[in-house]
This record gives sequence, C-alpha cells and structure tokens, in this order.
Amino acid sequence: MDPDLVYLDHAATTAPRRVALDEMRPWAESQFGNPSGSHRAARIARRAVDEARDRVADVIGVTSGEVVFTSCGTESDNFAIAGTVAAVGGTAVCSAAEHHAVLDPVTHLGGVVVHVGSDGAVDLDALAGSLQGVSDRGGRVSVVSVMAVNNEVGTVTDLAAVADVVRRLAPDAWLHTDAVQAACWLDLRAISAVVDMMSLSAHKFGGPKGMGVLMVRDGVNPHPLLLGGGQERGRRSGTTDVAGVVGTAAALVAADAERDHEVARVGALRDRLIDGITSAVEIAVETVPRASTVPGVAHLCFPGIENEALLFLLDQDGLCASAASACASGAMEPSHVLAAMGVDRRTATGALRLSLGHTTTVDDIESAISIISAAVARLVDIAGRSRVDG
Ligand code: PLP
Repeated sequence: MDPDLVYLDHAATTAPRRVALDEMRPWAESQFGNPSGSHRAARIARRAVDEARDRVADVIGVTSGEVVFTSCGTESDNFAIAGTVAAVGGTAVCSAAEHHAVLDPVTHLGGVVVHVGSDGAVDLDALAGSLQGVSDRGGRVSVVSVMAVNNEVGTVTDLAAVADVVRRLAPDAWLHTDAVQAACWLDLRAISAVVDMMSLSAHKFGGPKGMGVLMVRDGVNPHPLLLGGGQERGRRSGTTDVAGVVGTAAALVAADAERDHEVARVGALRDRLIDGITSAVEIAVETVPRASTVPGVAHLCFPGIENEALLFLLDQDGLCASAASACASGAMEPSHVLAAMGVDRRTATGALRLSLGHTTTVDDIESAISIISAAVARLVDIAGRSRVDG
C-alpha cells in the first residue's frame, strides 16, 4: 500500500501481520501436501493444521475439537444460523444491528429481529419479549445470535447479560456470537465462556483474507453447509487451506499477545482523533459514547453532509475511511445499524467510520484530523452557498 495513504479502515480489513505471512510461506510454497491424505507430505501438512488448531483453541479458551476452520466470517455466521435451523428446526433470533452475514440468514429463514438501544447494543427487555413471544405462539427458539462488537459503531455487547436472558427464557437455544470485530480488542476466552458458537474472521486481526473460524461447543451440532470430503470432522468439507489455517493461528496469537498494550495505545489515538475532529468541526457528533465501544472504532456523524461526497474528498486527500460497513458502503441508503439505533436520516447520511488498528500511528491521526476538518468545512461551505444561490 502507498505509504503516504492514511489508512483508517481497519474494521474493513487490517494489514497482514509479518509473522502470519512468514509462517504461511512454506505451506503456500513447498509444503503443499493435502492434509487429508495418508502419505508423508500429507502427514506433515496435517501436523501443521493440528498445531494451528491447538493455538487457536488456546487463544479462544476452548478445546481443539471445538475449532472449525471456514472460508470467512460470513461462512461462520451462516453455518451457525442456517446450520442450526437445518439441524434442529425452530426459530432463529438476532439483533437488528447484526452484520448482514447474520441478519440475512435469520430473515431468510423467517426468524425474529430484536430492537437495539440508541448505542446499538441489543435491548435486553426486547430480547426477553421476543423469546417469550416465540414460545407463547407455540414455537421454539433454536438459535440466538448477538454480535460481540458492532462493526459500524464499535459498541461492545454485554454477552453475559444476553446469555442470562437466553438461558432463562430459551434454555434449549444455542447462543451464537459474531466476534469478528472483537478479536483485536476483547479477551475471546471471556466471550467463548458464555456462548455456544463464536465466529471469527482472520483478515480482521492480521491474518489472510478468505479464512474464518467457527467455535462450536461440544454437543452443539449445526448441520454442515458444505458436504463432501468430510474435513473438519465432517463439519466443513473442502480441502483445507493449510497456509491459511497456519496464518490465521499466527495472527490470532500475535493479536492476543499484544492486546492489552494495543487497547491502551489505540484507545489514546482514538480519543485524540475524536477530540481533534469534534473541537475543529462544529457540526461533528460522536455517534456512541466511546466508553461503550472498542478502542479501534471512531464513529462520527456530520448532520447535513452527504457522506458519499465526504468520502470522495477524503479519498482525494489520501485518507481511507468508510461510511458504514465495507459491504454496505457505496449504497445510498443510510446504514441499517444507524436506522435501528434511531439515528435520524439527516444525521445518518453524514456518518463516517474511522477504524484504527495495529499499524495506526500518531501521524496518521494528526493527518486525519486536518484532512477531515478541511473536507467537512469545504462541504459545509458548498452547502451554505447552494442554499444562498438556490
Ligand atoms: N461479521 C462482522 C461483524 C463483520 O464486520 C464482517 C466483515 O466486515 C463479517 C462478519 C464478514 O466477515 P468476512 O469478511 O470474513 O466474510
């Protein structure tokens, strides 16, 4: 990437970690055996996969048999939701602020979507009401999915509180969390301890794109999405990407080891970024109080500004940012997350997500403050002039 770019889109994808690339290289190059085979080259590859699985299990705080490698966070989410309904029937439930990788399978299967509060975290009373409502109608909730960290505004969910509600009102349901945005900032052991399934995506913590993990608790058996060779103990068929698996483990171990340090370092940069912008730009609003969010996300709204125009100017000045989640950016509709939080359309249209990561520097932050302040001032000026001219 051009070293002059200011990259503040780490929630979309972050820089690959050197340790992951180095560990992947031999498996992508010379050690290319298929780990499902029985000869020497296959056994060498299988040992690498087994070791990587052990390392991932250790960071997540589960047994190796509870780690399933998938092709991405989206697949992990679909496996958890669609796989559960395929295996045991019943109703899927999720929060309205979920990533589309959860929201779409839930709605596709006729499930229930639960309100969130103004910070984007699921409303526990509404969750309780929805679970009760399904059983009052003679139904049965089979899976509840609530994200650990929201990918747009960065809000952290109190999953222990969610688990309390689910265990009380839908004791047979499996609780899934999309922890794709959590791995760099939260202790995954604490999260996995209260859920039955947990999704991760390697490219969000410095591993390769096209690699995901679904933690599936022993005794929890979603129906596989992919049938075939029976890899991953029959839970996910398809020839194992050995380099991808090794890179995922290396990146996750690195993210885990530096987490405490990075939470403090990046948290201070995020505070400086938000304070710098809000003091320079009168119309800037911090969307969610930063005490409720992970350190890596700064979400701001500039009411009256079109974020498409803002992103265009930022891009011209070498700043990479996002309006909403990467998958939704480019669409004119305000984000479903902000709509679910009750943010009015005029404010939501001026939304900007700046996401920080392991390569973010003080210089990035100072440049971003001046680029954003200048770009918003320009757009405010244009809007003012077009009102006068009109
Ligand atoms: N879930 C969340 C919360 C995400 O932020 C993303 C990606 O933006 C995904 C799921 C999808 O992950 P992947 O890109 O690995 O399919």
